[in-house]
Amino acid sequence: MSATHTHDALIIGQGLAGVVLSEALVAQGRRVAVFDVPKAGRSSLVAAGLVNPLVLRRTVPSWRAMAMLDVTVAFYHELEARYGARFWHPLPVVGLFPSPHEAELWEKRLADPEVAPFLDREPSEDHVVRSFPQPHGHGVVKHGAWLDIPTMLSIHRQRWVTAGDLVEREVKDSDIRRFADGVEVLGFSAPMLVHCAGPFAAVPGLVPVRGEGLTVRIPGLDLESAVHRKVFILPIGNDVYKVGATFAWTDVWSGPTAEARRWLSACLEELIDRPYQVLEHWAGVRPAARDRRPILGRTGAHEAVFNGLGSRGVLLAPWSAQHLSDQLFRNASVDPEVDPARFS
Ligand SMILES: Cc1cc2nc3c(=O)[nH]c(=O)nc-3n(C[C@H](O)[C@H](O)[C@H](O)COP(=O)(O)OP(=O)(O)OC[C@H]3O[C@@H](n4cnc5c(N)ncnc54)[C@H](O)[C@@H]3O)c2cc1C
Repeated sequence: MSATHTHDALIIGQGLAGVVLSEALVAQGRRVAVFDVPKAGRSSLVAAGLVNPLVLRRTVPSWRAMAMLDVTVAFYHELEARYGARFWHPLPVVGLFPSPHEAELWEKRLADPEVAPFLDREPSEDHVVRSFPQPHGHGVVKHGAWLDIPTMLSIHRQRWVTAGDLVEREVKDSDIRRFADGVEVLGFSAPMLVHCAGPFAAVPGLVPVRGEGLTVRIPGLDLESAVHRKVFILPIGNDVYKVGATFAWTDVWSGPTAEARRWLSACLEELIDRPYQVLEHWAGVRPAARDRRPILGRTGAHEAVFNGLGSRGVLLAPWSAQHLSDQLFRNASVDPEVDPARFS
């Protein structure tokens, strides 16, 4: 750390991006301070937290899925050890085929060496999955997981506030003082300020996308896999499931809507024929990039952006944090696919 700065990096935002980056930097021995005020519509706290490395509609891996998975699994395991808590829960992801075409595609992809590592050759062992209506069958995706994001974020918040390294304040642009050798924010200074402000940021190429979902109690269902048919049903324990999510590109800040609730309930009722209780109806705004790649890198001599995590933030965040920290502190070059400059 420079003698003239209080920290090595300052971070605005304590969503997935800010949490993963701050912990990645601390693990490298850097001093970091985070600023966050919980804003309505923020993404991470409402995210279901599902990791599905397959684009089910096309039966292809999501962007760089295998490379991401290695980094992702190692990162969350290490963080669990550091926090003495459990929030990474591996589980099978089951796609119910909507038509014979998807069933045929699945068979075809089993012979594709790029895709086959993500596909289970066997049907689901979960007896509840077999009780769902599925005239065209189903496929089981390997390497799925559920990240309990609220638990992870709340432990981070508690630890960082206690250490005096998380300031619960909104940072306005007028709070940022820019100098030749770094930045100062609310009395903290560092050679680097990283904006992890999610959908609230004005970043070129960023498209905010509203998502809604339900948390429901379904007594006695006993489902142990995440199941997808139009929506995901994700088991989170004690008969409680997350059901979602919707995608909307207009009125993104309007919060939960009756229309989405009706649609989510109808999708759920197509799958289960037992009573359920809605515990919560949630809405948030995904920070998506126009080309569905993260937006990572320097935007000035002492500022950088970490955004564009879109609908797969859990999977993308650890690799993205590592790539950004290599750029900022090890002079690595930016991967052109994530370079913020691609939109300018
Ligand atoms: C309904 C829904 C379901 C989803 N489901 C999944 C899923 O199952 N799996 C998955 O991988 N991803 C999912 N996502 C996507 C995932 O939530 C995002 O990719 C990820 O959470 C984005 O994190 P972020 O840190 O960039 O943004 P955010 O989580 O929005 O965090 C930004 C933070 O910065 C704060 N902030 C902003 N500006 C300031 C400021 N000026 N001063 C102080 N604080 C500020 C905000 O209040 C917020 O706390 C879902 C998203 C939604 C909306």
